[in-house]
Amino acid sequence: MIRGLRQIEPYVAGAQPAEKNMIKLNTNENAYGASPKVREALANFDADDLRKYSTLDQADLRAALAENLQVRPEQLMIANGSDDALSIAFLAFFNNDEPVLFPDLTYGFYKVWADLYRVNYYEVPLAEDFTIKTEDYLADNGGIILTNPNAPTGIFKPLDEIEAILKANQDVVVIIDEAYINFGGQSAIPLLDKYDNLVITRTFSKDAALAGLRVGYAIANEPLLAVMNAVKHSINPYSVDLLAEHLATAAIEDWSYYQANAQKIQESRAWFSQQLRELDFEVLPSKTNFVLTKPAGISAAALFKALEARKIYVRYFPKVERIKEYLRISIGKQEEMEEVVKAIEELRG
Ligand SMILES: *Cc1c(COP(=O)(O)O)cnc(C)c1O
Repeated sequence: MIRGLRQIEPYVAGAQPAEKNMIKLNTNENAYGASPKVREALANFDADDLRKYSTLDQADLRAALAENLQVRPEQLMIANGSDDALSIAFLAFFNNDEPVLFPDLTYGFYKVWADLYRVNYYEVPLAEDFTIKTEDYLADNGGIILTNPNAPTGIFKPLDEIEAILKANQDVVVIIDEAYINFGGQSAIPLLDKYDNLVITRTFSKDAALAGLRVGYAIANEPLLAVMNAVKHSINPYSVDLLAEHLATAAIEDWSYYQANAQKIQESRAWFSQQLRELDFEVLPSKTNFVLTKPAGISAAALFKALEARKIYVRYFPKVERIKEYLRISIGKQEEMEEVVKAIEELRG
């Protein structure tokens, strides 16, 4: 009998099937590929450069991002995906006795980090209409984390409501996870001028089509960022690899390409949502690159299986009581969404 083994229920990430010729709409990846500058940077990358460790502070990437986001480089910390930035933030900021608050329906990883790091937490039920109620986040707490727009609902919480939460909680850290912010939401970045308790996390995985590269970042004022950097350098100082920094910098330099694709995705989202509503599906209003929908005329479970048989992969959460009758469908290219609508029409008969 070996003592001291940790028991932990891990986060269950979306499946990554190895098949070719599938329509993959289960993990909110970007259907449009790398920009010309990213391709060129990859082709010209000298493998010998990998002989050395990566940089410690990602100065090039931070400089490019700072200009793109209109913040100071000192307000940015780069991480190995935003999961890494979020995990560091949990360790850095959630060390109070009072519970950390997050919605009962949000990014499933928050609960896993809280358990792993032995952080006290309370899952605040979303309202009946799946919105985050501001008044639920005004009472005493040990910190707050919200995804905005939220996942898996897709619903955006207006900035004045985010500000009310920041204002009422200036003695704890409030993290806003903006993984999907560039699909129609409004960033909390301007609020950094007024609130030192704000931390924003972002990722290159969704809007920048670089999920496999693993790059994310945190934006905050210097006092909080110093704590995050101390934690980062207590775990894995070289966590951002050299190639990742190089290609992410190229992506920022080609940002208009990604903005144009985000625009196309929003147009396909509007079209797809309308098609589903015409089939009497319930569709939550989304500002992300996915929609959460409740099928009509067929159960979520049956539709999930039937789509899978046609190599159309979407996300189904049978264990999450509130949405077990819903499917989360990423917005791919317009042709892909047209195929999905056709398949659904056929399956419903
Ligand atoms: C995808 C996602 C992440 C993780 O992003 P990575 O940069 O790929 O680690 C974090 N938060 C939310 C809400 C996400 O949807």
